Amino acid sequence: AATAAPSESGGKGVSGIRHIIAVASGKGGVGKSTTAVNLALALKQLGLSVGILDADVYGPSLPRMMGLAGQRPTSPDGKTLVPLEAYGTKVMSIGFLVAEDQPVVWRGPMVMGALQQMMDDVQWGALDVLVVDMPPGTGDAQLSLSQKVPLAGAVIVSTPQDIALLDARKGLNMFRKVDVPVLGIVENMSMYICPNCGHEAHIFGHGGAKAEASKLETPFLGEIPLDIEIRETSDGGTPIVETQPDSPHAAAYLSVAQKIR
Ligand code: ADP
Repeated sequence: AATAAPSESGGKGVSGIRHIIAVASGKGGVGKSTTAVNLALALKQLGLSVGILDADVYGPSLPRMMGLAGQRPTSPDGKTLVPLEAYGTKVMSIGFLVAEDQPVVWRGPMVMGALQQMMDDVQWGALDVLVVDMPPGTGDAQLSLSQKVPLAGAVIVSTPQDIALLDARKGLNMFRKVDVPVLGIVENMSMYICPNCGHEAHIFGHGGAKAEASKLETPFLGEIPLDIEIRETSDGGTPIVETQPDSPHAAAYLSVAQKIR
């Protein structure tokens, strides 16, 4: 695992990183970052060395979700950055470089420049997998990112309702257009289990992503329930896969990780 090899998908590899995997969504707020973090930590539990790159430049949430808010990466040589580390995972985010309450107002080329730097000028070291938390949506930024970064594959996160699925379909087609293999679809906020009575409610519908995945001939990677513990651990910087490894939710993320490893 320690051998430095460029990514296999062609283009310019990033030295030392074996596979770069994008976690993407057709729209915001579907739980893409939460999934990216827990999936990355699940891959680590499977024995891989893992890094996470927050490419969601307009709404970077990884510093908070990894419990690293307010910290800054160091640059001992003045040229490259040492990524921060949490839960045995290297983390880089534009959120470390701008104040949390300041909006990022850059235009496309500046965003691309910043992302390129976060790939090339960060001391990632030898990694089996770099998980990239993509900006939500399927616009120009996402397209050029998918072209510039040598992606080994993409995971699409969607909630079950039609509108989110429609957007997920656009995302899937975008990756196919630039020849990035789509590893499959994860259905997030799949069902709500009442903590009092155990009743299962399908707030956003249910099974939509599975049906869509089969229609689009892409693997269905699993469903993650809508659960207060997932939200609290995610927003509190204590991701559930790491802090409650024996919970059924952690098992759900691990099962997704097993399918894409
Ligand atoms: P995105 O990256 O798609 O914008 P986030 O991962 O930031 O979405 O999630 C949006 C909000 O929903 C966050 O507060 C997060 O904690 C919460 N959330 C995400 N997935 C779940 C889930 N399965 N159950 C409960 N809350 C969730």
